[in-house]
Amino acid sequence: MNEYRLLIGGEDVDAASGETFDALDPTSGQAWARHASASATDVDRAVRAARAAVEDERWAGLSATRRGRLMMRLADLIAERAEEIAAVEVRDNGKLYKEMLAQLRVIPEWLYYYGGLADKVEGRVIPLDKTSVLNYTLREPLGVVGIIVPWNSPVLLTMYALGPALAAGNSIVVKPSEHASASVLETLRLAADAGFPPGVLNVVTGAGEAGAALVDHPDVAKIAFTGSETTGKAIATRAGGRLAQVTMELGGKSPNIVFAEASLDAAEAGLLAGIYGASGQSCVAGSRALLQREIHDELLERVERRAAGVVLGDPMADATQMGPIANVPQLERVEAMVGAAREEGARVVTGGERAAVEAFPDGLFYRPTILDGVGNDATIAQDEVFGPVLTVIPFETEEEAVALANDTRFGLAAGVWTRDVKRAHRVARRLQAGTVWLNTYRAITFNSPFGGYKESGFGRVNGAEAIDGFLQTKSVWVELSDDVQDPFVMKI
Ligand code: NAD
Repeated sequence: MNEYRLLIGGEDVDAASGETFDALDPTSGQAWARHASASATDVDRAVRAARAAVEDERWAGLSATRRGRLMMRLADLIAERAEEIAAVEVRDNGKLYKEMLAQLRVIPEWLYYYGGLADKVEGRVIPLDKTSVLNYTLREPLGVVGIIVPWNSPVLLTMYALGPALAAGNSIVVKPSEHASASVLETLRLAADAGFPPGVLNVVTGAGEAGAALVDHPDVAKIAFTGSETTGKAIATRAGGRLAQVTMELGGKSPNIVFAEASLDAAEAGLLAGIYGASGQSCVAGSRALLQREIHDELLERVERRAAGVVLGDPMADATQMGPIANVPQLERVEAMVGAAREEGARVVTGGERAAVEAFPDGLFYRPTILDGVGNDATIAQDEVFGPVLTVIPFETEEEAVALANDTRFGLAAGVWTRDVKRAHRVARRLQAGTVWLNTYRAITFNSPFGGYKESGFGRVNGAEAIDGFLQTKSVWVELSDDVQDPFVMKI
């Protein structure tokens, strides 16, 4: 069993209560890591450390250029440890080592990019009517930022908020998921070696109550939340009660639309990548396949054949194509939702059940699943499964495809497969989604804005403007003339 403690003020510390909890390895089905269980007392301690750091000259007095350099040094250290941290993530969430390593190899780019942006944050000089007055703006950090992340890509999703928040000069308290906290701790522990002053980066581990304590803490200026819509709504309501800022990166029910003139080879690969990448445990999972009638049967048959042949097994092995579901509650959710879909009339084209993997009898494996025979109004087509479950729906016209695609409360992403360039751009403009992929899927990077429309959230991560969400603007007025402004002697 690997033991982890809270990271507060640059030190590894136990929870004040001494309580711990275990995290499960979903491949073996056995507990593998023991974490300190943070209570409100520990969260308070972490926020105090962050508050002290953000006011300390060692951080507050550092030039933006030097701040950026520290971030780049942390990026270098993460790059050196990429294999090790990726393997830790695989233990926690069962995603393929290949995928987690690919993520860990690009994660430093977030810190290089935002580190480089740190000294490019500029205020403005406002041209006032009264020319003797100089009015300029300062862009200042918010203070302490709380980052709450889910279990599917713990370090990457932390970086989405941490990069711009640090570049803006804030200090941070991260609350990772109780199912996958180890990699965030391993990564942010490197901050001390990179030269960050203690308290700039803190990690508290625990379940929802630890997150709630962070949301409620009066010294936390902003919560950057990534997770489910249910938790997001609870956090937004709670934070609203004390007027704390929030950004919300929530779930989706993203359509992957294939028109008849598309390359079926490309579309087949795109549908598979969209829903079975990361066992479907991806916020941008292309969980609704909208297939134009002319190619519906052929494409469904092709995807079915590939889905049925997916190699499930050890996520560390090169030959494995899909690992287990990440944790017990998630597996139970997938099973319950597929069961309910059946009762609602869905036909199981393939999958629809747990998979037995000989080497891992207690592993949480679930077969790649395709459902059809239900309309877009079915629960399975409206609610997020967050698992390897594709719902296939046919359509006749472009108009109908757009209407079906937008008929969801979510709006995170959408895919469009077509060889008609005019149609591609026409449809892209009409889709209500924060990201639209034309003839590709699941492409995300540090310098392109990402975030949700509708109930998939608000605020944007990635790209230059993400830094604006972690700054506040101060307007400074300077009278440069010797005029005396006596309120009782008004000049008209
Ligand atoms: P979740 O909402 O259950 O948990 C997310 C985090 O919130 C965890 O750290 C959890 O401990 C914490 N939390 C739970 N209750 C809380 C409360 N009351 N107050 C404060 N914090 C609380 O989500 P999950 O199951 O870990 O992750 C899956 C969800 O994340 C899916 O809906 C997925 O779409 C979403 N997601 C979104 C994005 C995005 O960028 N839009 C990326 C990845 C995942």
